[in-house]
Amino acid sequence: MPETLIYEGKAKKVFATDDAAVLLHRYKDDATAYNAQKRGSWKDKGKTNATMSAAMFAYLEANGVPSHFIEQVDETTIKTKKLTMLPVEVVVRNVAAGSLSRLLGFEEGRRLKAPIIELCYKNDSLGDPLLNWHHFRELGVSDEDLEFCEELGLKVNGVLAPFFDERGVLLVDFKIEVGRDAEGHLMLADEISPDTCRFWDKETGERLDKDRFRRDLGGVEEAYAEMLRRVTADASSIRSRASGKDEEGGA
Ligand code: ADP
Ligand code: UDP
Repeated sequence: MPETLIYEGKAKKVFATDDAAVLLHRYKDDATAYNAQKRGSWKDKGKTNATMSAAMFAYLEANGVPSHFIEQVDETTIKTKKLTMLPVEVVVRNVAAGSLSRLLGFEEGRRLKAPIIELCYKNDSLGDPLLNWHHFRELGVSDEDLEFCEELGLKVNGVLAPFFDERGVLLVDFKIEVGRDAEGHLMLADEISPDTCRFWDKETGERLDKDRFRRDLGGVEEAYAEMLRRVTADASSIRSRASGKDEEGGA
C-alpha cells in the first residue's frame, strides 16, 4: 500500500494511503513529556504502544465501544479510519495523580469518590489547558460533542478498569481523543498505551507507565514490556500465578 507522510507528531507518524478514508499510524520509539521540554527514546516503545493500542481497541469494540481501529499492519503500525479530530483531550481519573493532585491538593493515590472527567484543549502551544464547556463553546465545539466525549470517557473506563484489574493493574487515569468520520459519526481515536494511561501494579504500587520517564524512575523499557505482557497474556493465567498455583499442571 503506498504511503505518504501527512503528519509527524511527538509519538507517531501518520501516513495517507491509497484509500482516502484510511490512515496508517506508525508508533515511534520517541517520547516527550512536560509539553515536549523533556525528550527521550527507548527500544520497543513503538512496538509496545502499537500492539497494546490494537489490543485495547479490539477489546473495546468487542465490548460495544467502536473506534477508528481497523487492523494492526506490522509491529509498530496500525491502520485506522481517517477522522476529523475534535480539539479535545478527554482525561478520565479513578485515583488522584499528576495534575489533579496539583489542582485539588490531593495526595497521589487517593481514591476518587467517582470517576472525574476533564476536558482539555488539544493545543501544544497553550500546554493543553483544562477548559470548561463555556470555553469550548467559544472555540466552536458543540455541547453535543462534549457530551459524547464525557459519555465515551466513562464507557471506556467502565470497560478498561475491570480489564486491567484482572491483570493486577490499577487504572489510575488515562487520556483519549475523539474524531468524526466522513458520515458524521463521532468515535474513539488516537491510542491507548502506557504513554496515555497511568498504570500502577495493584500489589506493589509500582508505576508501569510513562511516569517512569517523566520522573526519571528508571526501568521504563521493562515497565512497558511488562504492561504488554499483561495485556496480551490470558487474565486467568495471571490470576493463578498471583495465587501461587500452576495453571497448566493444576498442582
Ligand atoms: P501529537 O500530535 O500530540 O504530537 P502523535 O504523535 O500521537 O501526537 O500524533 C498523532 C496525531 O494523529 C495526533 O495529533 C492525533 O490527534 C491524530 N489522530 C489520532 N487518530 C486519528 C485519526 N483516526 N484520524 C486523524 N487523526 C488522528
Ligand atoms: N495524558 C496524555 N497526554 C497529555 C496529557 C495527559 O496522554 O498530553 C495522560 C497522562 O498519561 C495521564 C492522564 O492523561 O494518564 C492525566 O495526566 P495529567 O493531567 O495528570 O498529566 P501530568 O500533568 O501529570 O503530566
